[in-house]
Amino acid sequence: MRAIVLDQIAAVEESPLSLRDLPMPIPGPGQVRVKVHTCGLCHTDLHTVEGDLAPHRRPVIPGHQIVGRIDGLGSKVSGLKEGDRVGIPWLHWTCGGCEFCRRGLENLCVNAKFTGYDVDGGCAECTVVPAEYCYPIPGLFSDEHAAPLLCAGIIGYRAYRLCGIRPGENLGLYGFGASAHLVIQFARHQKCNVLVFTRDEGHRAHARDLGAVWTGRAEDTPPELLHAAIIFAPAGDLVPEALRVLRKAGTLALAGITMSQIPALDYSRLYDERVVRSVANSTRQDAREFLQVAAEVPLKTEIQLFDLSEANQALQALKKSEIRGAGVLRVAA
Ligand SMILES: [Zn+2]
Ligand SMILES: [Zn+2]
Repeated sequence: MRAIVLDQIAAVEESPLSLRDLPMPIPGPGQVRVKVHTCGLCHTDLHTVEGDLAPHRRPVIPGHQIVGRIDGLGSKVSGLKEGDRVGIPWLHWTCGGCEFCRRGLENLCVNAKFTGYDVDGGCAECTVVPAEYCYPIPGLFSDEHAAPLLCAGIIGYRAYRLCGIRPGENLGLYGFGASAHLVIQFARHQKCNVLVFTRDEGHRAHARDLGAVWTGRAEDTPPELLHAAIIFAPAGDLVPEALRVLRKAGTLALAGITMSQIPALDYSRLYDERVVRSVANSTRQDAREFLQVAAEVPLKTEIQLFDLSEANQALQALKKSEIRGAGVLRVAA
């Protein structure tokens, strides 16, 4: 099968991913094999390729927003059959026995394995996944448009839940890429007022197109304070800026998987029971709930398509914030 492989971490400008011919994976007990149609790219892929996340495995096939059809079943698989269309996200497997799994926080499982990081991912014609860690994709989404739901969407949904925003309240979004362009649609469906902070005028225009009531830069002061906010950009400088315009008791959720250092903070910015919390990975329940909600709204994903062989160029475009919405690799028809 054709696959995109990362051998050595390097800046994406050096095109570290190479297209290779590899043997087809064979599904083990409890696993299914999925013929990949599309695979979305996300900042975590960028962090994996460039080594911002300590590498767990090399070579590795990246990619964890996978849409395809089951084309092989391992032993002991029930409830799924060949031909079923499924999506595969970042969470590949959890142990079920550690203290976090037992507390309903399998996203924090100490033995978790992640797609395209601990195990081969979706930048290939086939991949394998445990049957309980792939999810049916609602029929209204095409393969291309479904891909960004699987990380940008699921993580955005978890961040939205954890920031505690309620209908009618003001939600601030910092950074406006693949995740934020879905959260804004969901938040508006929940009758929230969405205020978007981003440096890029193109992204501000995009946010206004999707119904932001106000857009500006992080250092600007919006007309009303925020009840909750989510930072998607990996910039620690944004934390004091967001706290500056957050109401008492508001929660600031940090949705990036990495972040530059957070500057020293005057306690008055945090006082009055403001909460800063990070968002790490997601659970199977997040995935199932979100895909259902995505179909109910229904969310519209904006995508830019690349061929599988253009994975390096796609990551370069992602790094430079040149993609409107989400970047998606087309692997097979
Ligand atoms: Zn566990
Ligand atoms: Zn991701």
